[in-house]
Amino acid sequence: MSLSADQRTRSCATELVCHDCGRRLPLLDTTFKCLGCGQGLDIDYDYELATARLAERQLAERPLSIWRFEELLPILDARAQARVGIDSGRTPLIHADRLGAELGLRNLYLKDDSTARPSLSYKDRVVSMAVARLLELGGEEIGCVSTGNVGTAVASLAAKAGVTAYVFYPSNLERGKARACRALGAAVIQLDGNYDEANRACRALALASGIQFANITLRPFYAEGAKTVAYETVEQLGWRSPDHFVMPAAGGTLSSRVHKGLGELEKVGLAETAATKIHIAQPEGCGPIATTILAESEEIEPQTPHTAAHSLAIGAPGDGPLVIDAVRSRGGSAATATDPEIFEAIDLLGATEGILTEPAGGTTVAATMKLAAEGKLGPDDTVVAVISGNGLKTLDEHPEKSWPAMVACEAEVMGEMLTDFRQNGLGAALS
Ligand SMILES: *Cc1c(COP(=O)(O)O)cnc(C)c1O
Repeated sequence: MSLSADQRTRSCATELVCHDCGRRLPLLDTTFKCLGCGQGLDIDYDYELATARLAERQLAERPLSIWRFEELLPILDARAQARVGIDSGRTPLIHADRLGAELGLRNLYLKDDSTARPSLSYKDRVVSMAVARLLELGGEEIGCVSTGNVGTAVASLAAKAGVTAYVFYPSNLERGKARACRALGAAVIQLDGNYDEANRACRALALASGIQFANITLRPFYAEGAKTVAYETVEQLGWRSPDHFVMPAAGGTLSSRVHKGLGELEKVGLAETAATKIHIAQPEGCGPIATTILAESEEIEPQTPHTAAHSLAIGAPGDGPLVIDAVRSRGGSAATATDPEIFEAIDLLGATEGILTEPAGGTTVAATMKLAAEGKLGPDDTVVAVISGNGLKTLDEHPEKSWPAMVACEAEVMGEMLTDFRQNGLGAALS
């Protein structure tokens, strides 16, 4: 890939660098594992150049897209970048005064990625990077292995970019998400195994077939998209970094890259972020990272997931060690929630803030509640909880709720129902 000056983005990415041994590779290399020690690869930047290019004055004039902070994102080819994600990113940051009152948090904010474009989850951020990288490499097909939302994001962003998508789901897939992928034109394959087994098989398939996988072979680029949650949130708070982030973790990309993004905002002089703590939310039925943090141990024990929070059902989290480092170095913590607590938290968020989230978001709200009750979040602290996905895709997964009661279309009968609601609460609406 040789680019003329007008074909280059403003990206200040320089090299791939190993998370573990620090070995460096050229950015155009297509390996995704360190050739030395086999660990994952990160992306490094020329931060001095980025500081000069990212002066706040210039930022104000830029579009509110995923590419707003393009200096700190890894795509060099402007033609690839222009074809992906121009309407993604910049989700609302909402002051959750009503939910905050329930939790005893006066300054609770929600970073609402349940409204992310195009596919209603935080995965639109990471998959935007993967698809742009694919186009940069000249690829015409993309695969992914998905707990749910990677699939819908790949199907949607690949369709818009004119790329063929193959989505591999584990056997316990959520029907709404798999159907959405089909409707978006992707090939959907259900594998007879859980996510961790599917992930291993897809890795072998990617190597054997040469097809790029968004969250396997394109992973170093994919992961960078999650940093935009940190950039946007701090900008939306007026270049003030919150006291706390509470975030769900599955593989650990979101939380580890928000940590990286916060560090970068400090490096390029846009905000002071060192005091921000990161707290992790996981389901009790799949909480290998949270368990390790709470036990103050070092090694992450893989778990076999048993939870209705399918988006978070990764028992062997690839970025787990990075998450533990992010949490410990920032003085954060973790909390887990049972499935009933997750569904109660979904209902509480809905009834207080009018936001319908999926179980991953319920896990985050339930964890925020526990961390507040334990005094790990102070009543006046600025707390940002990341609502990472939309509940419309997962309504089929909710515990059985009865159908609304059917009554005659007559004002008199309807009036009796209203009296009943007022006296007995909303439960009366269900038969
Ligand atoms: C994937 C996902 C997560 C967790 O993301 P990781 O980066 O794998 O830790 C959280 N919430 C939702 C809705 C997701 O789809």
